[in-house]
Amino acid sequence: MKISFHGAARGVTGSCHLVCCAGHRILIDCGLYQGSRELDEENREPFGFDPATVDFLLLTHAHLDHCGRIPLLVKSGFRGEIITTSASRELARLVMLDAARIHEEDAMHRARQAARRGRDEKEIAPLYTTLDALDSLDCFGATATYGEPLTLAPGIRATFFDAGHILGSAFILLELEEGGHRRRVLFSGDMGYGGRAILRDPAPPPHADVVVMETTYGNRCHKPLQPSVEELYEAVNDTFHRGGNVVIPSFALERSQEILYYLREGVAGGLLPASMQVFLDSPMAISATEIFRRHPECYDAATAALFRGGMILFHCRACASRGRLPNPWPSTASPEVP
Ligand SMILES: [Zn+2]
Repeated sequence: MKISFHGAARGVTGSCHLVCCAGHRILIDCGLYQGSRELDEENREPFGFDPATVDFLLLTHAHLDHCGRIPLLVKSGFRGEIITTSASRELARLVMLDAARIHEEDAMHRARQAARRGRDEKEIAPLYTTLDALDSLDCFGATATYGEPLTLAPGIRATFFDAGHILGSAFILLELEEGGHRRRVLFSGDMGYGGRAILRDPAPPPHADVVVMETTYGNRCHKPLQPSVEELYEAVNDTFHRGGNVVIPSFALERSQEILYYLREGVAGGLLPASMQVFLDSPMAISATEIFRRHPECYDAATAALFRGGMILFHCRACASRGRLPNPWPSTASPEVP
């Protein structure tokens, strides 16, 4: 039994951990290094193991720093099975295809720069292409359900638990047996926190002998959420009544859906103007929102109840129109069903 770390160790991106047990090799995540040109270049370094020898990749969630090197892994010979939750599978597809497009554009830009300096353009290849990202989708196999153990091989079981971090996110318990020794190893992935909109609180962790824990924000306290929501409502109200527009830069995945959710809550609760129009101006955020709509199994109890009651949680008419959005809250609508 052996664990080795090939990313997100002494750093905060590029999550990639390899477990070797009873002749099987299991990878937990295969994320992209992000944050600087130097870190970008680290993505071009060898993985530190032979991808062709890996049997399984267990994906905790669909953030780029956890799934972004999957196309590269497949391109480098991985032919095993990728296992994750249904929501993470859809989100990872979106995230990897978006990353591939950015790598292609970046390579073209760098090739043009190189050509101007008289360097060989062939040196500048994208880290991976859209085709590589599409190829990697063929490796996605079994779907993980929270709390239900999956037997990967004799003596090796994996169980995904709700991490409450983004839609479909999980922490993963590996139960390993080798040479009469048993170990329970828990990989935290990225952990969420309680009281979020849409998502359930993180599941209680089971007993484990070893915990591999992310600690990106381990040295700080987040401020409570509710004051931030109140600040948002105040800014929107203030600007709306002056006849202005509020522009909210936002991550496409999770944060955009949370903002849409809170805007709907504000209108439903009479805290925001019912005649306000909301435009979601990002193809990726629009696609992510559609994926959120398709996965009510990931919602917390309050959001699931709204969904069952026919509530339009994320303003689907806004999503369908791809940028030119009708008012999702017509003034004749009841606050319950915008
Ligand atoms: Zn994450």
